[in-house]
Amino acid sequence: MSQTVDRARTDAGVHVDAWLATFQDALTARDAEAAAALFGADSFWRDLVAFTWNIKTVEGPAGVADMLRATLDTVDPTGFRVVEEPTEAGGVTDAWLEFETAVGRGSGHLRLKDGLAWTLLTTLDELKGHEEPTSDRRPRGAEHGAVRGRSTWLERREAEEAELGRTRQPYVVVVGGGQGGIALGARLRQLDVPTIIIDKHEKPGDAWRKRYKSLALHDPVWYDHLPYLDFPQNWPVFSTKDKIADWLQMYTTVMELNYWGSTTCTSARYDGERWEVVVERDGEEITLRPAQLVLATGVSGKPNVPSLPGRDQFAGDQHHSSAHPGPDAYKGRKAVVIGSNNSAHDICAALWEAGADVTMVQRSSTHIVRSDSLMDLGLGDLYSERALAAGVTTHKADTIFASLPYRIMHQFQKPVYDAIRERDADYYARLEKAGFELDYGDDDSGLFMKYLRRGSGYYIDVGASELVADGSIALARGAVRELTETEVVLVDGTRLEADLVVYATGYGSMNGWAADLISQEVADRVGKVWGLGSDTTKDPGPWEGEQRNMWKPTRQEALWFHGGNLHQSRYYSLYLALQLKARCENIPTPVYGLQEVHHTS
Ligand SMILES: Cc1cc2nc3c(=O)[nH]c(=O)nc-3n(C[C@H](O)[C@H](O)[C@H](O)COP(=O)(O)OP(=O)(O)OC[C@H]3O[C@@H](n4cnc5c(N)ncnc54)[C@H](O)[C@@H]3O)c2cc1C
Repeated sequence: MSQTVDRARTDAGVHVDAWLATFQDALTARDAEAAAALFGADSFWRDLVAFTWNIKTVEGPAGVADMLRATLDTVDPTGFRVVEEPTEAGGVTDAWLEFETAVGRGSGHLRLKDGLAWTLLTTLDELKGHEEPTSDRRPRGAEHGAVRGRSTWLERREAEEAELGRTRQPYVVVVGGGQGGIALGARLRQLDVPTIIIDKHEKPGDAWRKRYKSLALHDPVWYDHLPYLDFPQNWPVFSTKDKIADWLQMYTTVMELNYWGSTTCTSARYDGERWEVVVERDGEEITLRPAQLVLATGVSGKPNVPSLPGRDQFAGDQHHSSAHPGPDAYKGRKAVVIGSNNSAHDICAALWEAGADVTMVQRSSTHIVRSDSLMDLGLGDLYSERALAAGVTTHKADTIFASLPYRIMHQFQKPVYDAIRERDADYYARLEKAGFELDYGDDDSGLFMKYLRRGSGYYIDVGASELVADGSIALARGAVRELTETEVVLVDGTRLEADLVVYATGYGSMNGWAADLISQEVADRVGKVWGLGSDTTKDPGPWEGEQRNMWKPTRQEALWFHGGNLHQSRYYSLYLALQLKARCENIPTPVYGLQEVHHTS
């Protein structure tokens, strides 16, 4: 935790101190209405676990009062203070905060407008008495001196691996050891929560390794760090899939994770106290009995394959993009890629490079943004060398991002994409001339909002769009009606000859995993995973305020969902891990505002 610093007082600082003092007084007096009166009519308090044991945004004074009435007595917040001198720009005062609760220490961020709170973010950072063993608390490692019969670190690791899941049950089982499961596992290890991560692939990183060979991260290195261990300074800006896979494998080893590779979860059942998780490990059936079950099986992990008439008759190769082996076998052959988002573009470009004759089928409009423009205008202020030079560390960037309430985030995003459209006007014109149907999101708020709302509908252009614009990748427009033995036939009658059909048709909601592994009833009780309820395409309302079911309690006791991109996985794994740790230690965790379920998939 940082300390309050001596500083030259600014007007902004004096202003924030006065607000915080009044706020703290109201909290101490358990006067929810008085605290709520310090918030503007259009205001947002986003809480990550500190007050609500939930991930929750409340809106306006009424929302704040309701939340505080329900939580103040148990949370007992104290010591709200600034940790660096607040700043003021354009009528908004920004302040970085810390505070304590009855059980933990937290931090946050405040924006004041016209003397009232506009946005407040509060996050639980650690549990008192269960602090992570970092810095001054780091483990001693080798014990100096002479001790008869001592065991080595390796012997203790091997003993733990031998007993956990056999003679001693883990507290948490994480199904899915991709980047999400691994990051969460690292957090839980530091919090001393006995955990097993299982994955059907043999080695950590295989979820990346086994995909088509041209796959690479589209996000830049500054955005992608895992918890505790940043990429080194010579790490490439965009990792290729095998490099990120090796990093994940190394990370799993050095973070001492109990990772069961070649292990498939076949079913899970909750008896009210423990889960019965049946897994097949190298052909052996083992039943694990954890108290908590986390599905980290991939937010975009459950392939959507359209059931098209004629699929059985098609004589060539056909597979979902997630199973695409790469282009090597298709030189000189005809490939039809159904879909026009990230995977479709990546796969089309790789097939073209390998000398295939490629057609992309676009059914609906797609948002395209050039990688360079996105890095510069979209991410540059938060995640770049430029940001680091300006003092915006990864954690600070993550917190700034988290401090923007979803309800108004599109207002911050739209100007970014307006600027990108202006900068890349010629480029977009060329794409449209080639017949490509573009969009910029339902409200022109661009890529990140599409990602949060529906997790699809975009391509970060790392090269394929030029091939579409100049016709190297042929474009066909419309929905597919059927397949014949040799063709893909569109509803308008267009016939596309094909030796290969790739379904780059996206992924289903993560609760589909719960249906497969637990039951349809539990999947329906939990409801749709991901999305905000923005009432835009593929994100039906009503407004939820937070991403559905991610990193927070669900309507199924002891069932959690984790995942997202590397940034989300890094950031939210802490809050999920703290929720699990609190339960492991029997710390009361009264949940405020458990999400209602409006959609089952
Ligand atoms: C073209 C493209 C570009 C991308 N660029 C980026 C990027 O720049 N940044 C980024 O963060 N992401 C990127 N992604 C997305 C990335 O693939 C996913 O975000 C990421 O893999 C999600 O991680 P995860 O751990 O949640 O899930 P996954 O990596 O999908 O891992 C889930 C794991 O669960 C396992 N599993 C599932 N069911 C079971 C079961 N029953 N038993 C045992 N194991 C099971 C699977 O084997 C898998 O290893 C990109 C994807 C594509 C296609």
